[in-house]
Amino acid sequence: MKLHEWFELRTQLYIDGFWCAGEGRRRLTVVNPSTEETIAHVEAANAADVDSAVRAAARAFRTWKKTTAAQRAALLRAIASGVSDRREHLAALQSLNNGKPLEEARIDVSDVIATFEYYAGLAEQLDAVGESVVAIPSDDYRASVRREPAGAVALIVPWNFPMVTTAWKLAPALAAGCTVILKPSEITPLPELELAAIIAEAGVPRGVVNVVTGTGTEVGAPLASHPLVAKVSFTGSTPVGAQVMKTAADTIKGVSLELGGKSSIIVFADADLDLATDLVAGGAFFNAGQMCSATSRVLVERPIADALAARLADRATRTVVGDPFQPGVQMGPLTNRAQYDRVQRYIARGKADGARLVIEGEAPAGLGYFVKPTMFVDIPPESPLWREEIFGPVLCLRSFDTEDEAIGAANDTEFGLVATVVTRDAGRGRRVAAELEAGVVWINAPQVIFPQTSWGGYKRSSIGRELGPFGLAAFQEIKQVLMPAGAAAAPENVRGA
Ligand code: NAD
Repeated sequence: MKLHEWFELRTQLYIDGFWCAGEGRRRLTVVNPSTEETIAHVEAANAADVDSAVRAAARAFRTWKKTTAAQRAALLRAIASGVSDRREHLAALQSLNNGKPLEEARIDVSDVIATFEYYAGLAEQLDAVGESVVAIPSDDYRASVRREPAGAVALIVPWNFPMVTTAWKLAPALAAGCTVILKPSEITPLPELELAAIIAEAGVPRGVVNVVTGTGTEVGAPLASHPLVAKVSFTGSTPVGAQVMKTAADTIKGVSLELGGKSSIIVFADADLDLATDLVAGGAFFNAGQMCSATSRVLVERPIADALAARLADRATRTVVGDPFQPGVQMGPLTNRAQYDRVQRYIARGKADGARLVIEGEAPAGLGYFVKPTMFVDIPPESPLWREEIFGPVLCLRSFDTEDEAIGAANDTEFGLVATVVTRDAGRGRRVAAELEAGVVWINAPQVIFPQTSWGGYKRSSIGRELGPFGLAAFQEIKQVLMPAGAAAAPENVRGA
C-alpha cells in the first residue's frame, strides 16, 4: 500500500457548509514531491464556484457580525482544540503534500494552534473594548469610534507553509467578525481541506468559512475582483501580489500583501561561530529554503569569512536530505516541479557567472524534487543570485569590512522582510537592527515567531502587518459616531479614550 493511501483525503470544495463538486467538473492533480506520485485529485473551482462561495460568505456575514466576540472566541478555541486532536494527522498531511520533514510539519501545527488560541484571547477582550469616546475640542458634541468587521474577505495563500499562512489570516479574520473565502495553493490544498473539516466540526456556522480550491487565474483572480469581497489578504510572490492589487483596485478593495523577500544575515567578527553557523544554516535550509524569510544572503565580517564558510560547507555536506517521513532527515524535497526547475536554473546561472561554488551537498538520486544544499561565495552584488528570491536551499556569502558597509549591503534590495544580526556586542546588535529596512530583525536568535508580535516587511515585501493586534486590525473597519453632547445615552461598554 502506498503511503498516501493511508490517508483519508478531502478533495471537494467546502461552500456554505457543504462539501461539493465544482461547476466546471475539473480536478487538480496533487503530487507527493518526494516520490512524484499522484496523491489525489482535488476539485478545480471556477468563477461560478467563487461566486457561490462569496455569496454564501456575504449572507453569513449578516448574522456572524452580530455574534459577540466571546462567542467567536469560543469557536476559535474549539478550532485550536480540533487541530490539537489531529496534530499528527495534520503534520503527516503537511509532509506528504509539501515535502517538509515531519519534525518541521509538527512545528507548523503547533504554530496553527498557538495562533488560534492567541486570537481567541484577543477576541475575548473585544466585547469589553466596545466603543471609545474621543476627546474633542468642543462641548457641543460627543464623538466616539468603534471597530467593526470588514465583511466577507478573501484569503489567498501559497504552498510553502500551507496551514500556517492560512491560520495567520483565518484566526484574526474570524476573531474580528469577518466571514471568509479561503483559496489554498493549488499545489498544497490537502492540509487546508482537512482544516475545513475541523472548522465544520468545531461548529462554525455555515457560510462563515468557505474553502475553494483551484488555480490563481480561475479562483484567485475572480476572488480579487468580486464586488462582494470586502478585502483581500494575500500571501505569495511579489509579482502575483502586484496583480492582485491591480485587480482589487477596480472595486477599491483593501489589500494586505505578504510577499517575497531576499533577506540578509549579518555575522560580525565577534560572533559565536557555532551559533552563527546554526543561524545561517537554519535561515537558509529550513523548509528546504522555501521561506519568504530565508536569510540566504550571508554578510560576514572579513576576518572570520573563511572560518564561517568552512563550517557552513561542512554543515551543508552533512545535512541529511531525503524522505520527510524518515527519522533523522533534516531536509525534504522542494514542493513542486516548477520550483525545482527554478532553483536548478539559479544554480546553473551562479556557476556560469563565475561565482565560487563552495559546496553542493548530497541529495538522493532518482524521483522526487530533491536539491542539494548549495553555497556560493564572493558572489557579485549585481548577480541575480544575490538580488532575486531563489526559494531553495542556496545560500550566497559576501564579506564586509565595516558596520556601515554591512548595513548598506543588507538594505540594498527591493525587499525588506526580515534580517538577522549575529554579534556578541549587544549595543551593536540594537544599533544595526535600528538601521535595517526590515519588518523583523532577530539578534542572535533563530527565526522564532510568536503570534503575539508582528509579521510583515518594508518595501516590496508587504503591505500591512499580520499577527499581533495588527493582524486583527487588518480585518476591521473603523467607524466614528458623532452626535450632540447630552443626546447620547452611553451604552455599557463605552470607555474613555
Ligand atoms: P504565488 O504568488 O505563485 O501564489 C500564491 C497564491 O496566489 C496561490 O494560491 C496562487 O494560486 C494564487 N494566485 C496566482 N495567481 C493569482 C492571481 N492572478 N490572482 C489571485 N491569486 C493568484 O506564490 P507561491 O509560489 O505559491 O508562494 C511562494 C511565494 O510566497 C514566495 O515569493 C514567498 O516569498 C511568498 N511568501 C511570502 C510570505 C510572507 O509572509 N511574506 C509567506 C510565505 C510565502
